[in-house]
Amino acid sequence: MKLILFGAPGSGKGTQAIMLSKEYNIKAVSVGDILRENVKKETKLGSEAKKYMEKGLLVPDEIVARLIKKSIENGDFVLDGYPRNENQAKTLKNILTENGDDIEAFIYLEIGEEAMVNRLSKRRVCKFCGKNYHLKNMPPKRDNICDECGGELIQRRDDTPEVIKKRWEIFKNESQPVLNFYEKHNKMIKVDGRKDKDKVFEEVKAKLQ
Ligand code: AMP
Repeated sequence: MKLILFGAPGSGKGTQAIMLSKEYNIKAVSVGDILRENVKKETKLGSEAKKYMEKGLLVPDEIVARLIKKSIENGDFVLDGYPRNENQAKTLKNILTENGDDIEAFIYLEIGEEAMVNRLSKRRVCKFCGKNYHLKNMPPKRDNICDECGGELIQRRDDTPEVIKKRWEIFKNESQPVLNFYEKHNKMIKVDGRKDKDKVFEEVKAKLQ
């Protein structure tokens, strides 16, 4: 099964990607995670991507296209954070068509600006394993400590009010053409992303059947 998760930052794509990847035994591919890993390791790609990520801007399409091509070469996947604009949607379609392949579904987790700001401003991530928490809705068992690996929880550099605002603007501008693209291809599944993560997961599974 090949799936795409789409939605504004903070809509729960990362959380659902992990749940879907376990449920269907498919690889979860997060472009944001791959980019952050490169920034952390100070690779050439990382230092290029960092300039955009810190400002809440999209990293150029050519860079992310190379990453995606490599990440989805073999087997099934759930994509978290790709495509984010129409050009990326077309690139993905071309990569898959070359292999006589296509996606099963495009899952849109719908949330508005208010929910996004609330989620991102209270989001904390584990410095080591990357697991996400929300200070109110999904808090860790011990303050500032990851339940999974004991790592320290930090706030992402792009989860500051100014950058959150920019990321919402970009989402608002880029999302409609992507939604039109997948509506046309009859692949769209829409779910209310404001709901609790387990409810969202159950709905997605039911709609995939
Ligand atoms: P995320 O973790 O999905 O919120 O992504 C964090 C940041 O990584 C974004 O704000 C962008 O700067 C960059 N990024 C992630 N996915 C993409 C993409 N598909 N295209 C361009 N930039 C991306």
